[in-house]
Amino acid sequence: MNRPRILSGMRPTGPLHLGNLMGALDNWVRLQDRYECYFSIVDWHSLTTDYADPSSIRENVVEVATDWLAAGLDPARSTLFIQSLVPEHAELHLLLSMVVPVPWLERVPTYKEQQQQLSHKDLSTYGFLGYPLLQTADIVIYKADAVPVGEDQAPHVELSREIVRRFNHFYGPVFPEPQTLLTEAKRIPGTDGRKMSKSYANAIYLEDDADTVRQKLRPMLTDPARKRRTDPGDPDVCPVFDLHRAFSPAETRAWATEGCRTAGIGCLDCKAKLTEHMLQYLAPIHARRPELASRPDTVWDILIEGSKKARAVAQATMDEVRAAMKISYRKP
Ligand code: SF4
Repeated sequence: MNRPRILSGMRPTGPLHLGNLMGALDNWVRLQDRYECYFSIVDWHSLTTDYADPSSIRENVVEVATDWLAAGLDPARSTLFIQSLVPEHAELHLLLSMVVPVPWLERVPTYKEQQQQLSHKDLSTYGFLGYPLLQTADIVIYKADAVPVGEDQAPHVELSREIVRRFNHFYGPVFPEPQTLLTEAKRIPGTDGRKMSKSYANAIYLEDDADTVRQKLRPMLTDPARKRRTDPGDPDVCPVFDLHRAFSPAETRAWATEGCRTAGIGCLDCKAKLTEHMLQYLAPIHARRPELASRPDTVWDILIEGSKKARAVAQATMDEVRAAMKISYRKP
């Protein structure tokens, strides 16, 4: 029986951290058991915001792929590919751009938000406005049944569905409407308590070895009310406890809650337990990653093979799209 097909992508912004792992990658690894999976490193999407300095894209592509493989994405079961090695995405993006009204793109919530957040960059470009359209092309070119996303990305999938309806209305039923496969959100703070992010220099990376993880966790911000060891604290306002929620079993969380509220444990005890569970969780990644990192050629081969496979599917869809739009000039 055919399994439903899903597609998701990540920008090659650099090595992946625990936020990426717990927010998406771990879920992708599990989805491989139930779905036919296409996972794309979306390098063109990086250019929508980083067009002025593309110098690290190539290096980042291999970093991301190495992290994917270390985390358990399996090229024997899933198609792992680079977006720009399937240029049909760009053709479909162009054709969709003929059909989609500009206000549909302007009202995407992240459009204005990101322009404000990244005000040091000039994001008044067409590429930035059109990126949800490119994302739609990424999804529908594989006729994906569903897209695993966090809640913040759900409006993009909804937009894709609207675009599919409009396209199918004009040209016939070429594309299925992709469904949203919501990923449960886990709060993964960085070591300074803010959202874990490469740009805040507060991240724990998948490439960090056990010693580096220990060094990063030791000075991590805790509940500021616990100035002294004898001051009770509140796990609900402590970023270390957010990480316990993600990595520690219920028993340890209960121990930390009780010990924190009664000042029965110190923050260093609490962090030591967290470190133990986190390292246990990361052990398979730590076991696989150094070997993969020493064989970048193998990682490239996997991406190139995956891109060929993805391209064959994309080309078949584009034949249908061109025929539906009456721009197919093959000899009958
Ligand atoms: S004991 Fe644990 S939960 Fe409580 S403030 Fe310290 S690190 Fe945070």
